[in-house]
Amino acid sequence: MPRVPAARRIVKPKLGQHFLVDGAAALRIVESLGDISDGTVLEIGPGRGVLTEILAKRTRRLIAIELDRVLAAQLRMNFGLYPNVEIIEGDVLSIDLDTVFGPKPGSTRPGIVQTAEKARVIGNLPYFITSDILLRLFRYRRYFDEIVLLVQKEVADRLAAKPGKSDYGLLSATAQLYARVQKLFTLPPGAFSPPPKVYSTVVRLTIASRVEELVRDEPGFIAFLKLSFGQKRKTLWNNLKLGYEAELLRAALDEAGVKPNLRAEVLSLEKSAALFRALSDAKSAS
Ligand code: SAM
Repeated sequence: MPRVPAARRIVKPKLGQHFLVDGAAALRIVESLGDISDGTVLEIGPGRGVLTEILAKRTRRLIAIELDRVLAAQLRMNFGLYPNVEIIEGDVLSIDLDTVFGPKPGSTRPGIVQTAEKARVIGNLPYFITSDILLRLFRYRRYFDEIVLLVQKEVADRLAAKPGKSDYGLLSATAQLYARVQKLFTLPPGAFSPPPKVYSTVVRLTIASRVEELVRDEPGFIAFLKLSFGQKRKTLWNNLKLGYEAELLRAALDEAGVKPNLRAEVLSLEKSAALFRALSDAKSAS
């Protein structure tokens, strides 16, 4: 891939631009996606293309979404000769993923059942929008199976934390509702240019939604989780009373076998879901 001339190497900190400069780490990150030879990969924020270059040579189809206009144009030039690579200039938080990954009009013939192929996702993320990107990927999880992301180390710890541990919180509960989370390896600031102030960890999320098994009302359960983790130091009772009447809350806690003085971070997803179901049932009965 042609090198980008130094004069055009303008870094935009507002876009979280810390470019990976450790080639061995780039290879390891791509290899964490498993066998991609016969599938589709979505790359979030390809930047100067360090991961893109490896992916382009290894996968059947690569779709890379880059917000920075200049970088997107450079990527288009650099990967113009790869028929399997599509560079989209856009915001991963607002781009219509149904248009990118959904069935195309006229793509099905009567009598032919379409087996939707799931894409794998990779990205060295702009750290300040990690949670938003994850929530979006979970919302469109029907299109994805494996997700390998480079995130701030503390965020990786929170994503993978188990209930009862100090790192467990809303992000852990939400991620574990939709995926199995594995921390893979950690990189020092020197692996990037310019170096960030923090360490970074590669995580693998394997989509395995527990929503269908645990609750009927998915948006309602997400709102309930947000409320129960509302203020970290407060008990479940004090957080939940902001959204539920005391009498109803007391009955539901009792029904689910949850002590009101516990904090949300000690509850397993199963227990949280049991409490949410008891609250929903009590609400519809009242
Ligand atoms: N993948 C490259 C690497 O590893 O060197 C770049 C990683 S850099 C941490 C994050 C990249 O995401 C930057 O290229 C930035 O311009 C891009 N970016 C920032 N916000 C974005 C968004 N909302 N949608 C798509 N790309 C975004």
